[in-house]
Amino acid sequence: MSQYESNLPIPKSFFNSETKEPFTTCMMCNESLADKQYMVEKAIKNYPALGTQEIIFEYAMCLSCAGKMHLELSEESRERIEAYMKEHLQNRVQEQNSNPDFDFQQSLSQCIVAKTDVSHSAEYSIYAMCNGSDMTINGFPYALSGEIQDEIMQLLSAKSLEILDDFIGNHFSGPPEVREILRKRPVLI
Ligand SMILES: [Zn+2]
Repeated sequence: MSQYESNLPIPKSFFNSETKEPFTTCMMCNESLADKQYMVEKAIKNYPALGTQEIIFEYAMCLSCAGKMHLELSEESRERIEAYMKEHLQNRVQEQNSNPDFDFQQSLSQCIVAKTDVSHSAEYSIYAMCNGSDMTINGFPYALSGEIQDEIMQLLSAKSLEILDDFIGNHFSGPPEVREILRKRPVLI
């Protein structure tokens, strides 16, 4: 897939909403992200009656930490997640390559798996893969609706969920409310 990779400066939609700048540290190991590959997730809640939305949580995690977290899963859970993500991200990479006008901003308004408009979901997340101050375009960035996130969680065994819970409990240094959310929804790469 790497021959199709391209980079863009990180767009504002993936900035730290407090500093209005790109994230600078990994939320797990607290190390600088300046020369690292890392992912950013922003979870958003829609308030259709008000016509507004709110960021529920956001974080950046270096790939080294995300990889460690992933390895905590049972082999069976890992295989199921990998197969699921590969199936859906593969389509996306092909779609990107066959469309010279591919617009990542627009693609973030649609769940990559369900193809539904994320503004119709109660909650959804957007994900980006970054490298230092660049955003990598290759499958990422994408959006997942809350419904699909729940579906992905069903792929994990009870044992895997327990182990992840311990892992997050031992390593996560961010705010407690984010920690609670992560316990229910691990990072997927
Ligand atoms: Zn880290």
